[in-house]
Amino acid sequence: MQAAVCTGAEVLEIAEKNIPSITDEDALVRVSHCGISKWDVESYLGENPQLQLPRILGHEICGTVKQLTPSQDNGISLGTKVLVNPILSCGRCIQCQAGRSNHCEDLKFIGLDLDGGFAEFVKAPIKNLQPLPNEANPEKYILAFPLSAAHHLVSRIDFRDVDHIVINGSGPVGVLAGLILKEKKNIRLDMIDTNSFRLNIARNLGLFCIDGRQSRLHEIIKERCFPGKDGPDVVIETSGNPAGLDWAIRWVRVQGQMIVGGRIPGKGSFDFTNLLEKEISLTGTLAYTQEDLDKSLSDISNLRIDYQTLITHRLPLAGVREGLRILRSVEETMKIVICMDPFK
Ligand SMILES: [Zn+2]
Repeated sequence: MQAAVCTGAEVLEIAEKNIPSITDEDALVRVSHCGISKWDVESYLGENPQLQLPRILGHEICGTVKQLTPSQDNGISLGTKVLVNPILSCGRCIQCQAGRSNHCEDLKFIGLDLDGGFAEFVKAPIKNLQPLPNEANPEKYILAFPLSAAHHLVSRIDFRDVDHIVINGSGPVGVLAGLILKEKKNIRLDMIDTNSFRLNIARNLGLFCIDGRQSRLHEIIKERCFPGKDGPDVVIETSGNPAGLDWAIRWVRVQGQMIVGGRIPGKGSFDFTNLLEKEISLTGTLAYTQEDLDKSLSDISNLRIDYQTLITHRLPLAGVREGLRILRSVEETMKIVICMDPFK
């Protein structure tokens, strides 16, 4: 099969690889679509110490089941369209038992610890396959991955005494979190970014957007606050900008909440004294749970939003390297999807 194989930092080639062989617990999936995320960029740049090379990256995978052991069939059969949940958890440890499979003691990711979806075929445990409606175009379900991360961010908010939320970063996860929060009653939501292309997409989806480049940014955020509040109740940081945490600490109200979803390169830094003196609650997030994924699949199946408006680029398998470059350096980008079928 053809695959885009990462063999070193910033080294990625299209190569001929053996089709993965499967055990009774696995299925072989013919990949139809695979999204490119910031995690893939990080891995490609050699910034992820967990990554062992060579590796086929790509963890936002949809496709069709091509091979599985019939006796293991649990609602999945040959020809079923599926989404592949890339998070491999044991199901037995205390984190899994508590519903926190994203913190499994033996956590592994397809596309990081195992070969991923920038290939014609991928191997995945049958329990990680989510069946999709047979008539559906699997492409629209690619947005289930950032949408699950967005649901997870939102699930970490304590909504008591919250009526104003600011999201910093209008990438796919930030915009999708904004769309989830927009549906909640009595919440004022502001989206901030310095990327006008992304802000325009967010604005067209009905979100209130603020250009982060303007000199009066901090004053504007104060002006948006409700009477009696010295800042937004919650600031969600999804930009991955190293300065994002310091901005969030500056904007959020006394005893407010900061939810961090953006992966910041290196260790990051922020004003700890300000965090302490404002008694801010700081909450981290990691990937998503099965519950978040279930919500996302339901959202997409119910067509509540035309999620495909977030897809700005479609590239063939040979375009993975180009896709990684675009996501890194081109401003006019939202979601990039590698599409296999239309190019075969
Ligand atoms: Zn576990």
